[in-house]
Amino acid sequence: MDPQNLSIQMSKFRKKLIAGNWKMNVLPSMAEQLVNEILDGITNANCDILFIPPFTHIPTLSTLIHDKESVFIGAQNCHYESSGAFTGEISPEMLKDLNVDFVVLGHSERRQYFGENDKLINQKIKSALSQNLKVIYCCGESISEREAGKHKDLIEMQISAAFSGISELELSKIVIAYEPIWAIGTGKTASPDQAQDMHNFIRVLLSNMYSESAGEKLRILYGGSVKGSNAQELLNRTGIDGALVGGASLKVDEFCKIIGAAG
Ligand code: PEP
Repeated sequence: MDPQNLSIQMSKFRKKLIAGNWKMNVLPSMAEQLVNEILDGITNANCDILFIPPFTHIPTLSTLIHDKESVFIGAQNCHYESSGAFTGEISPEMLKDLNVDFVVLGHSERRQYFGENDKLINQKIKSALSQNLKVIYCCGESISEREAGKHKDLIEMQISAAFSGISELELSKIVIAYEPIWAIGTGKTASPDQAQDMHNFIRVLLSNMYSESAGEKLRILYGGSVKGSNAQELLNRTGIDGALVGGASLKVDEFCKIIGAAG
């Protein structure tokens, strides 16, 4: 089936997800205020909302959102072992014990600054899923890969390696975030056409790796300098099922606008 038709048919079954990745920002003592201001500022939300704060803020946020429908909490990383001598690391079991719903794996900042590759990310995905955490798997190309026309090959390589040994049932617990590295934190956003083209490519890739219905159900987020002013044009595109937002998720008005644009 033509991927465009397939995506149009099924997009109504994929509830949009707006995820705010706080990265290493916000003091723990300020987290409650930020979340409350965002929740109070939302006027219409027909999407799932995910807060992804630093580890230290998770208990506070868990308490704040535990009775809120369609609001979830995520972690920015985890180790693949469940416990042991891994100083400075956090295990999927620990996250589950704190009622965390999602964990982000494969973010380009983890790849760039901490040397993570898809083999390691694959181990982490398997371990997180085994603890019933849902995964947001990030992939994306650098500017030189895009300029060389290699962006699709690169994404295919990343996904094939990261999803090795992952079953179709497990795939249903994974959300993919397409995040071109050249658009993260730079103010440069992929155009709606560029983003939609990559989302369609990823959906067809996953449909071929698993099944048409697995591809249809898969939520694919766009990430890279999403803000209030460009959210609507991206989120209106069929096949863009939400956004992974960095900088703008720390600004109440901006994040609320993005959430509104998903409705
Ligand atoms: C991110 O951290 O995943 C991200 C997309 O950041 P920003 O929105 O700031 O580009």
